[in-house]
Amino acid sequence: AELLRMSDIALYQAKAAGRNTWRFYAEGMNAHLLARRQLEQELRFALADDQLRVHYQPRYATLTGSLRSFEALVRWQHPERGLLPPDTFIPLAEETGLIQPLGRWVLEHACRQAMAWPSDIGLSVNLSPGQLAENEDIVAVVANALHSSGLPANRLELEITERVLLDHAHSALKTLTALRALGVRLSLDDFGTGFSSLAYLRKYPLDGIKIDRSFIAHLTERGNDQAIVQAMIDLGRSLGMTVTAEGVETLEQLECLQRHPCDEVQGFHFSKAVPAEKLGPLFASSVAGESGPV
Ligand code: C2E
Ligand code: MG
Ligand code: MG
Repeated sequence: AELLRMSDIALYQAKAAGRNTWRFYAEGMNAHLLARRQLEQELRFALADDQLRVHYQPRYATLTGSLRSFEALVRWQHPERGLLPPDTFIPLAEETGLIQPLGRWVLEHACRQAMAWPSDIGLSVNLSPGQLAENEDIVAVVANALHSSGLPANRLELEITERVLLDHAHSALKTLTALRALGVRLSLDDFGTGFSSLAYLRKYPLDGIKIDRSFIAHLTERGNDQAIVQAMIDLGRSLGMTVTAEGVETLEQLECLQRHPCDEVQGFHFSKAVPAEKLGPLFASSVAGESGPV
């Protein structure tokens, strides 16, 4: 029985590593599994116990510096471990199916909060592959979040990654078309990583691309990255899409993006993601242009 239990654990690890591989059982694996199971239970509880938070990071027009929208980024206010970033629990939520109730909660919560903002300020929300699974009617979920909050559809943008398109190769087009028919915008997040298949830009009804921050990070040092970013900007714009640069951390990067302009910029140079109740000064700065990006 003990041997079988150990081989089971090793099998689980091999599957978790992407299948088609093998693992030797090791003592630590058991502890790892237990820790994961505990985290899963805690996350389940967190959803019911109102421990999730949504922070918002501003997106600005590159040339004028005016505030365009906020991206909703989920956090977990863990009772013992403090405020946890999404990387520590979104992958687990994806694996366990908890991403569906979690994603619904973020959508509803963020749409409701956005109703308190000026009416020309948009909201973007990230969607994971699991939220487009067959057992989840994402179109109804989004429609419901809009309806119950009263947020006009044209103020909402949904950010998907290439993984959504890969995981749902057969159904993504239909789902995304239906989402867009609601009147929401769709953008491709982390663009430039993954396969970056240009066919996606042709096949799917996308309104924007967000250039991954790994390209922006070396914008002012490496000639290659500058060439790639400029090409992505030209490509997106000539397809009529809004091009957003993510992860703008320095003035030099911003200036570079103003010389060969993309539409929007987002990053720590302007602001980190902050709780809804701290957004006030960001609305003000966009009007006064004082601590705004330009
Ligand atoms: P993302 O959608 O690409 O979000 C941008 C991430 O980059 C955020 O990290 C943001 O805080 C970070 N970031 C923004 N500006 C800068 C910068 O100038 N420098 C650096 N180094 N980082 C910057 P965060 O909040 O940890 O989120 C990580 C990822 O988790 C997100 O990447 C998104 O894929 C996922 N995520 C966040 N919230 C949700 C959610 O509600 N649902 C789903 N499905 N995924 C979410
Ligand atoms: Mg995003
Ligand atoms: Mg991104």
